[in-house]
Amino acid sequence: MILILQPGVDPDGAEVAALRRRAEGFGVTTWVHRIAGAQRELVEIHLHGDTAKVPAEAFAELPAVERVVRVSQKYRLIGRHDGLDAVGFTYRGMQFDQESCHVFAGLCAVDERASVEKMLAACARAGLRGTRMGAYKPRTSPYDFQGHGSACLPWVFELAGKHGIAVIAMEVTQQRHVDEIRRALADAGDPTGVMLQIGTRNAQNFELLKQVGQQREFPVLFKRGMGITLEESLNAVEYVASEGNRNIVFCLRGVKSHLGDPHRNLVDFAHVPVVKRLTRLPVGVDPSHSVGRRDAGGDGLSDILHATAQGLIAGANLVLVDFHPEPARALCDGPQALTL
Ligand code: PEP
Ligand code: MN
Repeated sequence: MILILQPGVDPDGAEVAALRRRAEGFGVTTWVHRIAGAQRELVEIHLHGDTAKVPAEAFAELPAVERVVRVSQKYRLIGRHDGLDAVGFTYRGMQFDQESCHVFAGLCAVDERASVEKMLAACARAGLRGTRMGAYKPRTSPYDFQGHGSACLPWVFELAGKHGIAVIAMEVTQQRHVDEIRRALADAGDPTGVMLQIGTRNAQNFELLKQVGQQREFPVLFKRGMGITLEESLNAVEYVASEGNRNIVFCLRGVKSHLGDPHRNLVDFAHVPVVKRLTRLPVGVDPSHSVGRRDAGGDGLSDILHATAQGLIAGANLVLVDFHPEPARALCDGPQALTL
């Protein structure tokens, strides 16, 4: 059960302490959360345990309480539960919520300095402040390019700063990557920010999800699991929130199925409004990894652009999309890279 408090109620004040004592009298534990809502900072008291005996109506009538919402899904922190407002966050001067929309165009994988520089210059010309750049690349085959890893971070961050890029979506697969990113940003003088991307293959790597949830410095871009239900992906992303980090974007990227042929995955952007309705999170789409090929239809527009348009019309708050100055030379996912 969640008690949403009236605006202006001090989360550290006596009223909140009294509310918690009263709720705990029913044998539940309480947690106070401050959340950046779309209009104002929300203060919520979350009641954990057997809340069936807690009289919602009696709490709703108390002066400090605006509303009481019974939690209906397991993903209690990210869920809307038919009554909670969406929440968002600001990172590096960019607002991410269910109203905003950003394009994160970039390279699937960092390769040469020249292509990174061309890509970031193109982003800057287009007025974009976000990009995507993979340094750690989990690949299907161990013989494929695995990413330049920490070696490329200093110059990627330096170039991002030079081109005014505020946020780079960058996949991580273990704690060491987060530490390397933190160190490289500090060494470079903090020229840009990083959104930690959890790839679809790690969507249920619960230890990794807990690790990125335990830090608050970097927001998290969670890619839905390609072979699990939406419900399972929502429960997985709850791991991040339950460890304390609520700065999360949920990103659709297609699901694995030969029914999607000739596309790499079956495009799932009809789930944009579903995730926006079920959760409080901003929702992104990745048309590149969904469609997986640059082919154009009779109208001259590539399937990737069509899928992007579908995602945007459905209300996507972020578009994560692969480009490359010379796709034929890309070391990863060249066939789906759009040209500058
Ligand atoms: C990516 O965005 O580079 C990527 C590997 O995506 P996904 O985890 O969705 O396959
Ligand atoms: Mn890729």
